Amino acid sequence: MAFDNILKSLARSELILPILENQMRADSWPEKYQVTVDSSPYYGRGDGCFHPSTHPLLHPRQLYYMFHPDTRHLMEHEPSSMQREMTLATGSALHAVVQTQMIMSGLTTEKDIEVEFFNPDHHVRGRTDMIVHHPTEGPVPVELKTRTAYKFDCTTIEDMPSWEIQTSLACDNLSERYDTDFTYAILIMMETGYPFRMREIRVPRNDALLKATYDKFDYVRDSIAKNVPPPFCCAYKSKEMKNCLARHACWLKEDRELKGLRQ
Ligand code: SF4
Repeated sequence: MAFDNILKSLARSELILPILENQMRADSWPEKYQVTVDSSPYYGRGDGCFHPSTHPLLHPRQLYYMFHPDTRHLMEHEPSSMQREMTLATGSALHAVVQTQMIMSGLTTEKDIEVEFFNPDHHVRGRTDMIVHHPTEGPVPVELKTRTAYKFDCTTIEDMPSWEIQTSLACDNLSERYDTDFTYAILIMMETGYPFRMREIRVPRNDALLKATYDKFDYVRDSIAKNVPPPFCCAYKSKEMKNCLARHACWLKEDRELKGLRQ
């Protein structure tokens, strides 16, 4: 049936996907359009701010070492690989397709794409993929997330606390700019290969989680000001330690010192 997806989407009370599907079916692409792949170093490094997609789920001690001027150079970041670069490029392309089509639908504009925010009270900087001006709901923050076919089938919002805090931070920090109280955001999960399924998830703003996150960020900044690291959050030589990007500043600091490496 030609409009099967739209009807199913409407039956599930989805807000964005029926509009997107309808827009795509209109087949009114521009003659050409830009797909920008942002391959610059991660913008969250080195600006002294906490970032919604990276920092909320880390332990205070990890954040302490990541942000402390004496230890941040000791973090071990994931090295480049073909898989990593292809994942980034594919994600960027899918974002561009959806954002372009939503602009063409007339429900968002260039200035509502990649909308940045800064929270000076808790030193949080972030951006949301787009704000869609829905005909009945008004402005709605929308986050786009790509998943492989396998992950698409088994991912739920409960499995992804990072998505929940990311959307809650966008709701909290963009409400004033859009002169509304964002009580939820829409997350669109996009499959990265054929048949390119999409699923819409309504994510309520979680105020308790927001408070816990802001409290954690404030505690980390206070600990840095006092030069006192928060308590250990894993055991020496544990699996957690071996996977921690801050281990060379933390448990393995003495090893570094014994080897005479730079502090
Ligand atoms: S090495 Fe362990 S204790 Fe140290 S910051 Fe990492 S997780 Fe926490």
